[in-house]
Amino acid sequence: MNLILFGPPGAGKGTQASKLASNFKLKQVSTGDLLRNEIKFNKELGIEIEGIINQGHLAPDKIVNSLLEKVISDPQNFNRLIFDGYPRNLLQIASLKQLLNKFNQKISAVFSLKVNKGIITKRITGRIICTKCLKIFNEYYDPPNNSNHSCDEKLLKKRSDDNLETILNRFNTYANETNPVLDYYKKNTNFYEIDGNMKIGEIYNEIEAILKNIRD
Ligand code: AMP
Repeated sequence: MNLILFGPPGAGKGTQASKLASNFKLKQVSTGDLLRNEIKFNKELGIEIEGIINQGHLAPDKIVNSLLEKVISDPQNFNRLIFDGYPRNLLQIASLKQLLNKFNQKISAVFSLKVNKGIITKRITGRIICTKCLKIFNEYYDPPNNSNHSCDEKLLKKRSDDNLETILNRFNTYANETNPVLDYYKKNTNFYEIDGNMKIGEIYNEIEAILKNIRD
């Protein structure tokens, strides 16, 4: 099955996608991570993307779609994709449809995480990521400690776009460009709205219960 996790910045898409990926043997496809990877390893393109991400805008569709094609076309990922942060505008919906058609696949379910703005801000400003194991923690809700993290604590970093100024731009981008994506998927029969204000485990259990009834 292929899934889409949808929600505003800080809704917890990455956290849920990573848990779902490991428990259902899916491939987590975070376009944010793919772009950050380009910044790390592709100097020329990286400079362009870094500026856009740090301003809270969307990276060019052409770049995002070509990164995505590499993942979707890989036979190892056939029908086991979990999209986290994609599609983010109407053009990307069309590209995703096209790519899935090209590689004989479809979306099995779309989960939308609905979260209050106050909680979102705290989730974003408290977010810390381990640069080695890529696990996401939160200073307020889920701090790293000896029982949940074994890498050196020096490897824990904040994302450069997780500051208050960029967050405001990311919210605006979401409202203007990404909200129409939600309207589109709401009409889908396999659309599920989840209360993203709940605890990580509770959100996960709700998604898992729905997925157990989806077989493809
Ligand atoms: P995320 O890791 O999903 O919070 O994304 C971080 C940033 O990467 C976003 O604010 C955008 O600048 C960029 N980004 C991630 N996914 C996309 C996408 N599907 N299309 C365009 N830009 C994206």
